[in-house]
Amino acid sequence: MDWLRLKAQLLAEGTARFTGKAGEPFIARSTAGPGAGSGGSIFFSTGQGRVRLTIDPRSPVEVEHTGGGRAILRCAGLTIEGLIEPVALHCPRQAYITVTSGCIYRCRYCEVPALTAGRKTPEQIEEMVGLVADRIDAISLTSGVLNGVEEEEEYVLAIISRITRFGVPIGVSIFPGESTADRLHDLGVAEVKFNIEAATGELFATMCPGLDWGAVWRALNRSVGLFGRGHVFSNLIIGLGEDDRDVEECITALCNAGVIPIIRPLNPAGELGGYARPTADRLLKIYGIHSRLLRDAGLDPRDALTMCPACTGCDLVPGRDGPL
Ligand code: SF4
Repeated sequence: MDWLRLKAQLLAEGTARFTGKAGEPFIARSTAGPGAGSGGSIFFSTGQGRVRLTIDPRSPVEVEHTGGGRAILRCAGLTIEGLIEPVALHCPRQAYITVTSGCIYRCRYCEVPALTAGRKTPEQIEEMVGLVADRIDAISLTSGVLNGVEEEEEYVLAIISRITRFGVPIGVSIFPGESTADRLHDLGVAEVKFNIEAATGELFATMCPGLDWGAVWRALNRSVGLFGRGHVFSNLIIGLGEDDRDVEECITALCNAGVIPIIRPLNPAGELGGYARPTADRLLKIYGIHSRLLRDAGLDPRDALTMCPACTGCDLVPGRDGPL
């Protein structure tokens, strides 16, 4: 089985039993992204790519750590040798930090609002980055919303001023206001990710009550002029109730704007705990659409420096996991 199909199957599963030798430096415990608040995740990689799996003792997938980061993945009768990668902060090779855990908004697919609200101080974040500075290629920041979108932005801007000294590209993903893109750019941020989340405005309104889909699109369009084509990203979740034509139209609109879509399989969580994860076949079909539209637009996720397109753990990424 080729890597692309294997990864699609693993993403459709989403979990793995972690067995064998102890794995502390290899386990990520996260307060954002798929698996937020869970018992941890591991990053299994082969020479062809990387996948993030949430640790679950009931999973049909097994990753056995045989020592020193070497690992054997067993899935559907297959045995694949690879590595589990050490995590810097949240993922390999990045200090990816959630500034504020907890959120005043109630996006239905998200586990973050259920987490105890907490906020790292700028000093804490500077110290956290300092501790992993010798093993990162990028710093990425994301955040829930503690009090309001504008207040969160101010807080994150103050943090950025303290971490530019590490000299690696900085990526930021927060809910954007009207001048967020300009202010991040002025501070030297390299890349931004503003998430449209759902394939249609109607679905977004249902899934993310109180948030403005139009504000995200305005911020994306503004960002491409500042950060450049291919250095602006947007998560599009698959499995919220959209059909493949909705997905294709949405990917087309993002690519036409110069934005790289991140096609994120739904992790059924929060209020959507009863939803199904998208199947491997659907993910592969959408991969074909995604890669064709990226190619037509002259966009290449391999140019990404930060955040999810540089990590690739949770998504099928054209150019990194298979042909563009
Ligand atoms: S792809 Fe994004 S959300 Fe997933 S582990 Fe990597 S950085 Fe985190």
